[in-house]
Amino acid sequence: MAWDFETEPEFEAKLAWMRSFVREEIFPLETLTEDLRSPEGRVVYDRITAPLKEEVKRQNLWAAHLPPELGGGGFGQVKLGLMHEILGMSPLAPRIFGNNAPDSGNAELLSLGGTEAQKKQWMQPLLDGEIQSCFSMTEPGAGADPTLLTTQAERDGDEWVINGHKWFSSNASVADLLIVMCKTNLDEDASPYSAYSMILVPTGTPGVNIVRDVPTMGEPDHRTGEPGGHAEILYQDVRVPLENMVGGPDGLGQGFALAQKRLGPGRIHHAMRWLGQSQRAFDLLCERALTRYTKGSILADKQMVQEWIAQSYADREAARLLTLQAAWKMDKLHAEGRHYSDARLEIAVIKFWGAKVLHEVIDRAIQIHGSLGYTTDLPLESMYRAARAARIYDGPDEVHKVTVARQVLKRYRPADPSVDHIPTRRAAALDKYATYLDELAVNS
Ligand SMILES: Cc1cc2nc3c(=O)[nH]c(=O)nc-3n(C[C@H](O)[C@H](O)[C@H](O)COP(=O)(O)OP(=O)(O)OC[C@H]3O[C@@H](n4cnc5c(N)ncnc54)[C@H](O)[C@@H]3O)c2cc1C
Repeated sequence: MAWDFETEPEFEAKLAWMRSFVREEIFPLETLTEDLRSPEGRVVYDRITAPLKEEVKRQNLWAAHLPPELGGGGFGQVKLGLMHEILGMSPLAPRIFGNNAPDSGNAELLSLGGTEAQKKQWMQPLLDGEIQSCFSMTEPGAGADPTLLTTQAERDGDEWVINGHKWFSSNASVADLLIVMCKTNLDEDASPYSAYSMILVPTGTPGVNIVRDVPTMGEPDHRTGEPGGHAEILYQDVRVPLENMVGGPDGLGQGFALAQKRLGPGRIHHAMRWLGQSQRAFDLLCERALTRYTKGSILADKQMVQEWIAQSYADREAARLLTLQAAWKMDKLHAEGRHYSDARLEIAVIKFWGAKVLHEVIDRAIQIHGSLGYTTDLPLESMYRAARAARIYDGPDEVHKVTVARQVLKRYRPADPSVDHIPTRRAAALDKYATYLDELAVNS
């Protein structure tokens, strides 16, 4: 009997350390981000955060998402879930713990699909926090349906020549490395699922033209070159050596298979971090309910507010348990040497449910604060703007719901009449128990 909702004391001590470290050392930095936006400010930011990163490494909590043989903490997905829940409370925390998106997913991708040389050249520096990376897949004309991507790489002698137009390449304008999804089989009859490959492109390669960081609802006044932007990129005759294909020659046509390997863990890591964001919003909601007095009582005494608290608590707990269950399944699959794609149902559920809960809890927290909730005096408005994107990135809600429905429906068969059709069942029951029922003269 292995159902267990407890955390072992040694690990709980690590979580307690993380909670206080994030609150004491990282929360204060959030209030300085405007002051530290300029290039000089970012140098100061790096000076402030360098000792914090060192402390995280001393605690053996750096890059917790990767196994020890790859330089990570090797905690597995369940423990990672509990850790990311804490880190997710602040948008600044993941980078200080060496597992911020998209670098964490990209390092994981290279660990799963990269050649030894690629791991040495790119994965290790990524893990050490020495370089930054970007996953460049979405195009203005194609996102949720990647079979429509048109960026192509053609072989010319010892090189790949890449041409195409991407956007929402997060982090590109500060990244050292772009992982570019390219069509490598231009044969019209080729299956789209084996027509794409991933190619590693150092950002400084001639022909990589970063047009702009697209201003978004999350970062409306973002300036190109600031961390966190979502770049629009023109790839114009970008030449890289053949060995830059992720996985080497074996990586040809493996783009989608690799993307699935990358996006599965990436999605659950987002869901884990959203738990931290929604907890922070929920804490503010409850604090305000107990504090604000209006129409004869504190807000906590109003039934409508109690409904928000109960609903938010239940929704969030459900998201948390679903996330941890998905993580548990991934750990089990990993232990059995199986691939995470067998947890696609669980991951798809938390991707849309987690995003919905995040959005709704923040929304209620804003509502209970009234005008204050709408101001920038609280973090809720920026949390709300960021949360809206959660329903779109790494696949929109609708696509994950399609996955869930398809996977669930595999468990069913058409039946006419229904397996629960009472007259049919009654006839079968009368037949089954006929010898007993004869005495009662039950009508058939
Ligand atoms: C903040 C943010 C960061 C991002 N970072 C990256 C990144 O680093 N790298 C990268 O490559 N991309 C990134 N993206 C892009 C993201 O992955 C895409 O936005 C996403 O895959 C959806 O593609 P799309 O925007 O082209 O929407 P479309 O494919 O045009 O879909 C539009 C809408 O149509 C509906 N829809 C789509 N498919 C279906 C369906 N099968 N059934 C029913 N309805 C459907 C959905 O409502 C969807 O929102 C990022 C996006 C955001 C918002």
